[in-house]
Amino acid sequence: MDNCIFCKIVAKQIPSTIVYEDESLLAFKDIHPAAPVHLLIIPKKHIDTLSSAQSEHTELLGKMLALVPKLATEHGCAPTVMADGSLSGGYKTLINTGPDGGQEVYHLHTHLIGGPQPWRGQR
Ligand code: C5P
Repeated sequence: MDNCIFCKIVAKQIPSTIVYEDESLLAFKDIHPAAPVHLLIIPKKHIDTLSSAQSEHTELLGKMLALVPKLATEHGCAPTVMADGSLSGGYKTLINTGPDGGQEVYHLHTHLIGGPQPWRGQR
């Protein structure tokens, strides 16, 4: 898509801080982070919204979701069992869809939002 900002990030026409890339996905740091860890995972292929995804995209959607825990671990926000057995850490996984879903950029993306509080509950 010619005027899609995330397609331009995929094409490296505008800068971003890329944290992961393979043949079908790109992940980069959100320019306006809502938390200490705020990554966006996008398919390289342009899909407007989750609601535009078709059955042919099922594998791609699975890969996008499966990347979340890997990146959360790499960025230090995966849930961790502490010595006393309690859980610490964790993150939100968010796909805003359409105007009422708060979507601003119409290129499908998954937010990975985590890190130490007090960011919790802001989005
Ligand atoms: O889910 P939604 O469409 O609302 O979020 C879009 C996100 O893309 C925002 O969090 C915004 O900060 C981010 N963004 C970015 N780099 C850009 C443009 C938008 O990280 N060049």
